[in-house]
Amino acid sequence: MDSHLAIMQQKSLLKSIKMKTLKLSITFFILFTFTSDCFSQKDNIFFWKINTNNEKVIFLSFDDGPGEYTKEILVILKKYDIKAIFFVLGELAKFRQDIIREIVRDGHIIGSHTYSHKNFYQLQKNNTIPQLKKILVDELEKTEAELKKILTHNFKIQFLRMPNGYYRQWMDEVIMHKFGYKVINWTFGCDWHNYTEDEMFKKYINALQPGGIYLFHDGGKHRDRTVKVLERFINYCLEKKYKFGHLNDWIK
Ligand SMILES: [Zn+2]
Repeated sequence: MDSHLAIMQQKSLLKSIKMKTLKLSITFFILFTFTSDCFSQKDNIFFWKINTNNEKVIFLSFDDGPGEYTKEILVILKKYDIKAIFFVLGELAKFRQDIIREIVRDGHIIGSHTYSHKNFYQLQKNNTIPQLKKILVDELEKTEAELKKILTHNFKIQFLRMPNGYYRQWMDEVIMHKFGYKVINWTFGCDWHNYTEDEMFKKYINALQPGGIYLFHDGGKHRDRTVKVLERFINYCLEKKYKFGHLNDWIK
């Protein structure tokens, strides 16, 4: 009888430990999900990943153009019928107006990457917040004006990627409230590093995940590896049954 009681007590103790662990796990899960969600969505205006409910959809994004490699990239995207987003620089758009029009004609999204790719991390060291806000407003206004001139006056920018993905709280007022942009950072990108084509390709495929936003560069020099890795990456994703999403369909 005693041993039976001991077993019963042990069982009930175990059950209580299990319940506590379960409760703790649930609390942790809720906390983690909540906080990670806050970070990733930030009131639905800041994204580094898209919530696709685990659906195998990913997003391609290109920075620093329009550049020497943009046309080549557009050909690849057309070949696989993929729609992407191009974060362009106002000061470069001015010199490659035809490419800007071609990007839009092909059904891709044009996002702002500011006018001249200023490094706000550096600027923040020697400027006050009001001064920084002024610089940022100027960068965004000039880009909008340039794109409206090239496209139509009704053209509306919806998405912004800050140079170097640098984002701070003080920018909220300008970017989100004054301009109404959504900020798109990225889940993974490494084509600006000094990797071989194979190394780069492996890094991209290792980072493949539902909802991932992948960054490549169509602007800048020596992007031959980027172009090759991009096509290999697309093929790999298609083999793994991933689809390529259009940000407009996923962010409202
Ligand atoms: Zn950039």
